[in-house]
Amino acid sequence: MTFDMAKAGMQTGARPSLDQTSQHERDRFWMGFALLEAKAAREAGEVPVGAVVVIDDRIAGRGHNAPIGRCDPTAHAEVIAIREAALRVGNYRLADATLYATIEPCAMCAGAIVQARIQRLVYGAADTKAGGVESVFSICTNSSLNHQVEVESGVDADASRELMQGFFRERRKSAGVKEANSGAGGVTDRSAADE
Ligand SMILES: [Zn+2]
Repeated sequence: MTFDMAKAGMQTGARPSLDQTSQHERDRFWMGFALLEAKAAREAGEVPVGAVVVIDDRIAGRGHNAPIGRCDPTAHAEVIAIREAALRVGNYRLADATLYATIEPCAMCAGAIVQARIQRLVYGAADTKAGGVESVFSICTNSSLNHQVEVESGVDADASRELMQGFFRERRKSAGVKEANSGAGGVTDRSAADE
């Protein structure tokens, strides 16, 4: 069975037919929506990270990285998606939710995932420099906390990684052009996950 994203609908709350699919296929399907969010971040000039919160086979919240545009250091894709989902369900706990993130969440977002009691986290590429789930910290599975999250990683990791690498390649290129023209320094506005 294959999914038609257009048919499934891009609107929040869309509910595709998922009954006969394996968990892995479901994960790839929902990750596709997180990747679309990441592309929206890229279009806005933000580090391309996207996330969706899925509850009962529906998208309850979606977000893309926006700290620069919102002047908000906490405006990471995951936090935005969690806030939207919690408002939608009217509960600060999201116990039956799965969060899909294109890149391994940072320490702040991993903390928010634990605070929201999210059941399952699925992410794409690892963030070896700042990952809060497996790479640098293990916040989501820390046995000292009273909630642990099921974690699945590497889902559509290549697509997530390519988005990030392409973004930073372009940024370096334009920073180089600026430097040549004005003598200004390199990139200074790094935010969220880096290469
Ligand atoms: Zn984050």
